Amino acid sequence: MKIPLNLLSRLLFILCLFSSTFVIAEETPLLLHAARVFDGNNMRTNTSVLISNGKIARIDSRDALKNTASKVIDLGDATILAGFIELHAHLDFQHIPADTVLRHGITTLRDVGGSVHQPYGGDGSLRVLTSGQIITAPDGYPIPNMGADNIAIPVASEAQARQTVRDLINGGAVIIKIALEPGNEAGAPWSSGHHHAHAKPPHAMPLLSEAIVRAIVDEAHQHSRKVTAHLAESKGVKLAVNAGVDEWAHIPCDAIPEPLLKKAAAQRVKIVTTFDTLSKCSGAAHNAHIWSALGGEFLYGAEIAHPDIPWGIDAQELNLMMHLANMKPLEVLRTVTSKAGQYLNIPLLGTLQVGAPADLIAVRGDATQNFKLLEYPDLVMSGGKMVVNYFDK
Ligand SMILES: [Zn+2]
Repeated sequence: MKIPLNLLSRLLFILCLFSSTFVIAEETPLLLHAARVFDGNNMRTNTSVLISNGKIARIDSRDALKNTASKVIDLGDATILAGFIELHAHLDFQHIPADTVLRHGITTLRDVGGSVHQPYGGDGSLRVLTSGQIITAPDGYPIPNMGADNIAIPVASEAQARQTVRDLINGGAVIIKIALEPGNEAGAPWSSGHHHAHAKPPHAMPLLSEAIVRAIVDEAHQHSRKVTAHLAESKGVKLAVNAGVDEWAHIPCDAIPEPLLKKAAAQRVKIVTTFDTLSKCSGAAHNAHIWSALGGEFLYGAEIAHPDIPWGIDAQELNLMMHLANMKPLEVLRTVTSKAGQYLNIPLLGTLQVGAPADLIAVRGDATQNFKLLEYPDLVMSGGKMVVNYFDK
């Protein structure tokens, strides 16, 4: 069938009209004032934020932005902050409702160990990035604890490992996760078996060979992806360091010898904190102190879906970052926002700079004085769409 050209162009014209009307209808700029604004890097006072088209349009002094929008919300003695970014969660595997997490201050989340998806959300819904299933040895962790369904992919050869990495990346994986976990560390949640139905494994679980881990790292790097490892004791750490793994998904549970941590710090490994989840581990505090003294880098992750962790911002994790990793409050806030956004390679994510996605939260009072406030935000916005707003009442 032939469609006349002029009819086609007319249709296109009508379509364009429709879509531009739609965009204009959405575009009522909104101006937010608050006593404090944490822009992802610094705490500013006497600052306003102008939001338009789902993005930060301007951030400037209250005077400079006066009369720039017809819609204005003055939050008064409150703190506006860039939306928080959680880098270790199991939303998919444990069926945690994404909306609950968003309403409690997490605007971007990385799901590491669940089904793989192309990145989605960020437009009034939780922005989700995934690693997909965890690559492990046949019968390796977490298979004896949790089964393989939807959480793990066992691989037995380098070729199989490389193919799995490519498949995950084709499915949308932003990072590749592997497990290097023989099991039975004292105090580790996966050793006690209290949060999963499967029995505690009776003996050490098999580990991936160094050659296979190297192949995974090489394949991931060829596709511009990093590799994160679930690890908890020295054997896994040694494997990760030797194979050039980029990130540790946890602070190790057992105390790790300092020379090994030194090697990892020299390789610029990043450690996702998960201090709260691993608070019963014998060596976590020791490792955190040494890592921070070595100048090693931390990323924020509380492990949402773990039974001890709130479905949103975890104030206890933030407090432990100060106490175990020696961070000042603003350093903690930078780690959870701009540093994580940069690490995820999404331009300006985690900041309130001009052009950044308008992902932000606000709490009454001074958030740096009491992190607990952050667990109950009075305002949450995702991609410029209001999700929570208790200020208008
Ligand atoms: Zn985990």
